Amino acid sequence: MDINKLIEILKEKYPNARYELDWDNPLQLLIGTILAAQCTDERVNKVTKILFPKYPNAQAVADADIGELEEVLKPTGFYKKKAKQIQDVCRALLENFAGEVPKTMAELTTLPGVARKSANVVLNNAFRIPSGIIVDTHVHRISPRMGLTKEGNPEAIERALMKIVPQDEWVQFGPAMVLHGRYVCTAKKPKCSECVLKDICPKIGVEN
Ligand code: SF4
Repeated sequence: MDINKLIEILKEKYPNARYELDWDNPLQLLIGTILAAQCTDERVNKVTKILFPKYPNAQAVADADIGELEEVLKPTGFYKKKAKQIQDVCRALLENFAGEVPKTMAELTTLPGVARKSANVVLNNAFRIPSGIIVDTHVHRISPRMGLTKEGNPEAIERALMKIVPQDEWVQFGPAMVLHGRYVCTAKKPKCSECVLKDICPKIGVEN
């Protein structure tokens, strides 16, 4: 796969690609990213429409009655675990970062349950900082198909992508790959015949 061509085509197809979660500030994006685990963005957006006005900042989440918080989060699944995690995260933000979301990978990944993927989502999207490349379930699946890496775990895939994609493209590249995986290079029956990359993609392991 010609990486420069890939970057150019993805940019054209997904200009200003961004996550499909609704958010107005970095804390909301961080919380939305936690809630999106094993849940659709659409469902998360319905829940955060209620959650964010009710708990407008880290202090409000930290002080929340856990039962009430769980009730609001119920439709996202695994709501007890998620309620505890976002409360723990907000408490850590208050304790260590004056209630604000920090702007570095090293600081963000000190927060409970926050790994590189969620940290990249926040840094790339909310701060436009090229901290790394988002490797979610979609990027994980489609990178080997495109012949970009033979690695199998998210951190190794990210390292491989960071070597071949210029850093000033990372913020655009990750979200564009996510969208491409979500809508075109899908898990079952990727839509190769209508894909903008069909002429340059090696389609590794894809049966069509
Ligand atoms: S050509 Fe097929 S395998 Fe390659 S990116 Fe497009 S949909 Fe995925």
